Amino acid sequence: MNLLTDQFISTTEGKIDLKQLLTQDHNYQLQYGFDEVQLAMLQLLSSLTTFVLKPTLNELKEYLSTGLSPSQYEAALQKLDLTPFDDDHFMQSVSTDDRSLATAPVAKLVSGIECGTSVTASGLFSDTSRVERICPDCAPILNYNLHMNIKGECFGPTGATGIRGGGSLTTIISKATLRQTVLANTIAVDYFDEIRGVKDSNNELMWTDPPSGTLYYGHQIGLMRGLFALAYHINFEKHGEPCICDICGQTSDISITDFTRLKYLGHYGSTKNGRDGGAQWWPHPYTPTIKTTEGTFQVSPKGDGWQSWQGLASYIVSRQIDEKKAVPAPVIQQYTAMRKGHAYLLVGGNIADQGSVVGRIYELYAMPQHWDDRMDRVTKLIDAGIDVKHILVQALNKLYGIGYDKKFVNGIKQQVVDQYMANAQFIIQDLLVDVDRKELSNMRQQAFTRLQTQALKIYRQLMRKYQNQLPTFKALAKGERILARISKVTM
Ligand SMILES: [Zn+2]
Repeated sequence: MNLLTDQFISTTEGKIDLKQLLTQDHNYQLQYGFDEVQLAMLQLLSSLTTFVLKPTLNELKEYLSTGLSPSQYEAALQKLDLTPFDDDHFMQSVSTDDRSLATAPVAKLVSGIECGTSVTASGLFSDTSRVERICPDCAPILNYNLHMNIKGECFGPTGATGIRGGGSLTTIISKATLRQTVLANTIAVDYFDEIRGVKDSNNELMWTDPPSGTLYYGHQIGLMRGLFALAYHINFEKHGEPCICDICGQTSDISITDFTRLKYLGHYGSTKNGRDGGAQWWPHPYTPTIKTTEGTFQVSPKGDGWQSWQGLASYIVSRQIDEKKAVPAPVIQQYTAMRKGHAYLLVGGNIADQGSVVGRIYELYAMPQHWDDRMDRVTKLIDAGIDVKHILVQALNKLYGIGYDKKFVNGIKQQVVDQYMANAQFIIQDLLVDVDRKELSNMRQQAFTRLQTQALKIYRQLMRKYQNQLPTFKALAKGERILARISKVTM
């Protein structure tokens, strides 16, 4: 099977190849059992398209408007060596040292099933039997997911941190059709070189030209090399036994149950060792970042209650927050530069904590027609959600004054805040849809009213729970007054 010529992409209408996807005027839907595999597949398809087309920004704009013809795709393939994209070669370098390889079941390649070795480590789904056998078409997708999305910590001491950093968040563009989505996340070579200010860098794929040394310098890594950057030597053993693939659900004559891996010994600029050694961050197109005086870091979701909408404004427009500069992923900057209008922003990733995966994010946000013109509105709506959260916290802080154990109060507080944050997300998302059409002051008023109602509702549920415990109830009643005053405090 070859990823650039064969039908390995699972859709609701059976398997298709990249040429069909890019050149047919038909809206295929991906079909994979896990949404994180779906996300990895979108990243992989756009990276493959970048490799095949190597478009300039103007060419990419053209493809987005008029599509791509079969002969254009064929002509692009003619210029390439296809061997590295055979499934027996793709992203599989072979170790030349004598360290022994670790073997693991394929379930480990689906983020979140298996985790680290620390005592607190736990998986998102503990049932590893959900993924036991996969087909050869899905092995490259899971391998790509390992290298780009899975935190090295999830493999304990044998884990490695890849070019994107550990457990980073992904932000990509989602359009009306799969073809448009893949093209919207294809990277223009001239634009990428321009935003990073580097021209002559190595574009050889790492499984044909492995990196060497202890530091993998960002400025030496070209776009094609970085999009498929490796952190492990890896191998999949194929068995001649038929299976129904646990990833795509299709039947196959060949099955894969395990893989072997060995981590690379050098460090990318995404790691502490790499940063300290001066390897520098490689601007992965799908990774939003935070710049501080200590360096550049990927945005990673943290903690059970973490909600992606809080960072929404910074994923699409550069913003200064607490002396840190939030920088949108290059693919988002590129899309804004193309001025291709309305789209959805897909935010995805795993929330990992000490080797545990405690949550998953796969959220779509409707973005207005002219993002840059309307960004003040998006920002203000998000700020409203966070302002109300701060007031809710102030109200809950009244519980600290009545002599309860601090841990106990922290627990109650966290639960209420998490519930508010999850519900606030729906309100914010709902309001964002209208961001083009409504007056800013109206929207802000509407946001505050709805968020306040939400916060009060959750808070009053808590009060009902404690109505027979007088000191607690009294403390909460003081807090309720703070919450009820929201409109006067913040407008
Ligand atoms: Zn499969």
